[in-house]
Amino acid sequence: MGTDIHVHEVYAGRVLQGAGARTLVPDEIERLGAQRVLVVAAPSSAETAQDVATSLGERYAATFGRPVQHTPVEVTAQALALAREMRADALVAIGGGSAIGLAKALAVRTGMPQVAVPTTYAGSEATPVLGETEDGVKSTRRDPALAPGTVVYDPELTLSMPHGLTLTSALNALAHAVEALWDAEASAATRAYGVEAADGILTALPAVLDHLGDVGARARLQEAAWLAGACLAQARMGLHHQLAHVLGGTYGLPHAELHALLLAHVMRFDLPAAPDAAARLARVADGDPAGAVAALAARHDGPTTLGALGLPRTALREVAERVAAAPYPNPRPVVAGEVEELLLAAW
Ligand code: NAD
Repeated sequence: MGTDIHVHEVYAGRVLQGAGARTLVPDEIERLGAQRVLVVAAPSSAETAQDVATSLGERYAATFGRPVQHTPVEVTAQALALAREMRADALVAIGGGSAIGLAKALAVRTGMPQVAVPTTYAGSEATPVLGETEDGVKSTRRDPALAPGTVVYDPELTLSMPHGLTLTSALNALAHAVEALWDAEASAATRAYGVEAADGILTALPAVLDHLGDVGARARLQEAAWLAGACLAQARMGLHHQLAHVLGGTYGLPHAELHALLLAHVMRFDLPAAPDAAARLARVADGDPAGAVAALAARHDGPTTLGALGLPRTALREVAERVAAAPYPNPRPVVAGEVEELLLAAW
């Protein structure tokens, strides 16, 4: 029973969007009735964090400025100690997935409300998901209490992203949309988000890469990344995210780069088995969607193969076996030998 019944859940009840939206953070804090705000900010957002702290006036308590990728529990413990010492009652996270992940880890431990101000396209602010690392092992949990209640998208905060991070982070977002489109249980609303996200990314990303300072194009790209993040929250992710999880978690390869270089390979592997997703993406890409993604990925100045990222050839078999053994939905059956071929092409 129930296999045709789709459940659609939405996170971030309140989303503010537009150039300068960061200046409204104090209003959002007032709305929440909070008195003592802990700001969690990436080092790259130190200046913005300082401005937000000043604008919060008496409602500002402290800043924790050292979030780390994959949310190690030791770092969370340090930030938690600061939150307790300052008697913080709300969180403002400013930065990419690492800053937002740390605020989620604090929120789920304390019940504090969160205002997330993302500065990359990773999409964590739109999800009730957190990956945490303890003793080198990354585990992922899902809990509605993790999702920030308020998200502030200010495209001006993305202007400082260099070419490489802009490209890889946007392709990370595109991967959320693509995998949502081939999840057979995704709701109609999620599919609509997926198409709009893919269209926005494929249209705006080349424009942004040509003019990194174009706020209008950045705003379009950020808006598409928001919807892609919602796809990540709402749909089940398949082979692509599984590969990124294993390669990132076990071999320490960088998160966004991995997504960027794997996506076209996984699309070539899976799209023939996902005709509906393939047709939607072909309309959006105006041709071969995997080719369009490969062309974008080739604009990366950094490593574009797994070998160049530092993965030894001997690791491919083990990675293929691990992703073939894990349970998750995928349009095409995940057979170790076929995944090893995919990885070899990406290597
Ligand atoms: P990140 O937050 O680690 O940021 C990468 C680097 O870019 C950092 O050095 C950061 O300071 C810098 N940076 C961020 N914004 C910048 C800007 N506007 N200009 C210049 N530099 C900037 O990287 P990320 O890719 O955003 O996030 C990756 C992390 O988020 C991983 O830990 C990943 O697991 C997690 N994540 C979680 C979810 C989820 O739903 N739980 C979703 C996506 C990513």
